[in-house]
Amino acid sequence: MSHNVLVLNCGSSSLKFAIIDATTGAASLTGLAECLSLDNASLSYKLNGEKHKIELPKGAQHDTAIAEIVNLIKKQNLSNSLIAVGHRVVHGGEAFTGSVIIDNAVLNSIESNVALAPLHNPANLMGIRAAQAAFANLPQVAVFDTAFHQTMEKQAYLYALPLSLYKEHGVRRYGFHGTSHFFVANEAAKLINKPIEQSAIITAHLGNGCSVTAVKNGKCVDTSMGLTPLEGLVMGTRSGDLDAGLYNYLSTTLDYSNSQIDALLNKQSGLLGLSELSSDCREIEEAAEQNHVQAKLALDVFCYRLAKYIASYVVPLGQLDAIAFTGGIGENSSLIREKVIQLLAYFAFELDNDANLAARFGNSGIIASNPLGAKVLVVPTNEEWVIAMDAHKLVEAR
Ligand code: ADP
Repeated sequence: MSHNVLVLNCGSSSLKFAIIDATTGAASLTGLAECLSLDNASLSYKLNGEKHKIELPKGAQHDTAIAEIVNLIKKQNLSNSLIAVGHRVVHGGEAFTGSVIIDNAVLNSIESNVALAPLHNPANLMGIRAAQAAFANLPQVAVFDTAFHQTMEKQAYLYALPLSLYKEHGVRRYGFHGTSHFFVANEAAKLINKPIEQSAIITAHLGNGCSVTAVKNGKCVDTSMGLTPLEGLVMGTRSGDLDAGLYNYLSTTLDYSNSQIDALLNKQSGLLGLSELSSDCREIEEAAEQNHVQAKLALDVFCYRLAKYIASYVVPLGQLDAIAFTGGIGENSSLIREKVIQLLAYFAFELDNDANLAARFGNSGIIASNPLGAKVLVVPTNEEWVIAMDAHKLVEAR
C-alpha cells in the first residue's frame, strides 16, 4: 500500500512541493514555483533525478501553479498513489497544538489568524483551497509552524505588557519553524543515544529565517521567535531583537511611516543591513574571507547573538545534552558553527575540526563534546517528511 503524501508549502510568492513517502521520507518528486504574481513566474521540478523548468503565464498565482503541478502528477500517473495532501501553515495561534485534518472549522480558524501572519496565512489558505479543488477526494492536512511551541509556559510566552493585550488580542510569543525544531530535536536525541523523553536539547534552525529553541524531554520550553517571525536572532534580512523604543524614534524623529519601519526591520536589516552587501550567508562568508569589513561585522553580530541565546537556554533546560545546528546555514557553515562554539567558551566544548568540516551537504554528525558529556551536532532538517508523517498518521487514525 502506498504512503505517498503531496506536501505543499506556500510562501507569499513561492510554492514548494514534494511527493514524500511518509514511512521512509523518500521524495519521488520535488519542485518549486517561484516569482508568483510577477512577470517571470516559473515552475521547476525534479522527477526521477531529472531537472525540468517551465515558464508560467505572467502574473501566475498559486492556483495556476497548483493546476500545473496537478497536470504533472496526473501525467506521471502519480495521483493514484497519493493518500493525502499535507500543507505547511505558518500561524495556528493558540487554536492548534498539533496537526489536523482540514474542515471548514479549521479553515475559519486559520483565517482568524491572518492578522497575526498577514503575509503567510493568506498564501497557505490559497494553497489549501486550490488543492481541495484539485484533489477533492483526498484528505487535506494542516501542519502548523507554531504548534510545537504551544507547550511553552506563560513565563516564556508572555510579554511584560498589560495582560489585556494577550487576553483580548492574543499578543504573546508563539514561535515558528516548529516542525523543523521537532524533527531535529528527535534526530539529535537518536544521535546521542538518549531517550527524547529524558533529554535537554537546544536546536538552532539557521536559514533565511533563524530561530533557536529549548527542548526539554521532547517538549518546547522556549523559543526565540515571538508574535511574528521577527523576534530573536539576526537573520538574512530581519533584525531580530531590538529596543522597541526604536519604533517611536524612527517614526517621530526620522519620520518613517509604519510600512517603512516594517520593511526596514523585515527586509533591509539582519546580515543584509549590517553588511550592506547581501542577505546570503555564503556570499557574506566569501566577502569576509577577502577582508570585507562589514561582512565580518555582520558575521560577528550574527554569531554573538546566537551564542547568547544558546547560553541563556540553560535557564529553562536546567541541564544540557546537545546543541543541534540545522537549516541552510546550520547544516553547511562550519565557520559559523566554529565561531559560536568559541563564543560558548564557558561550556568548554572541544571542537573536532575534521567532523565540523565534514558535516555539510546533508551529512549529520557530532562535531564537539565537553567534559560534562554535552555534544554539538549537525542535523539536516526535513520539514516535508514531518508533514507527510503527520498526514499519514491522521489519515490512518480516521
Ligand atoms: P530557507 O530559510 O529559505 O529555507 P535555507 O535553509 O535554504 O533557507 O538557508 C539559506 C541560507 O543558507 C542562505 O543564507 C545561504 O547562504 C546559506 N547557506 C547555504 N549553503 C551554505 C554554505 N555552504 N555556507 C554558508 N551558508 C550557506
